[in-house]
Amino acid sequence: MRILIVEDDAALARGIVSSLRLCGFAVDHEASGAEVLPLLRQETYALVLLDLGLPDRSGFEVLRDIRRAGITVPVLIVTARAAVADRVTGLDLGADDYLAKPFDPAELEARVRALVRRGQGQPDPIVTCADLVFDRSGQIATLGGRVLPLRKRELAILESLITRAGRVVSKDRLVAEVFGFDEEISPNAIEVYVARLRRHFGAGGPRIVTLRGLGYVMEAGGSEEGP
Ligand code: CA
Repeated sequence: MRILIVEDDAALARGIVSSLRLCGFAVDHEASGAEVLPLLRQETYALVLLDLGLPDRSGFEVLRDIRRAGITVPVLIVTARAAVADRVTGLDLGADDYLAKPFDPAELEARVRALVRRGQGQPDPIVTCADLVFDRSGQIATLGGRVLPLRKRELAILESLITRAGRVVSKDRLVAEVFGFDEEISPNAIEVYVARLRRHFGAGGPRIVTLRGLGYVMEAGGSEEGP
């Protein structure tokens, strides 16, 4: 899942970016308001974290433009301006939630996960496929009750696939949801992660089927597995 952080405080932005990357999100950072709308038109984001005090324009203006353009991406306002009037203005303009600085990273992560799930119409954090149970909130995957020792990228790929189980997910989409703009990706990175997931699932678990030229489908099992 890809997230856009709009924040001009470089140190704070770095902290948020690294904490959300550790949670397995692909994260892009933008320090000014002007580029937000063009970016949202070009990329699909699961969430925008929006600071109100930006150098070129207010976050409220940016938010108004996003909604006027008909873009429905969930927006979480993150700001030092914790006044009630500001919260009301933000929510009236179409923000989905509000977080006052300073905040606990754990609270930020919890709110981000909840908003991303809600934005996808999946408020329940538990997703299942065959005997595999994935808790999107705690980022824990269990197979037949046993916790799988997955790393963050593997969890991110699993989340992309299992939330669309039975549907094709293209490789480009996986790359977009798992890696930020500034991250180096080797050409076969996705294949490598998918292969690792298959090893973790073993023979009894769900299958990740490769559809040549199209992408991957996660299934409960029983069909032919691709190369
Ligand atoms: Ca600011």
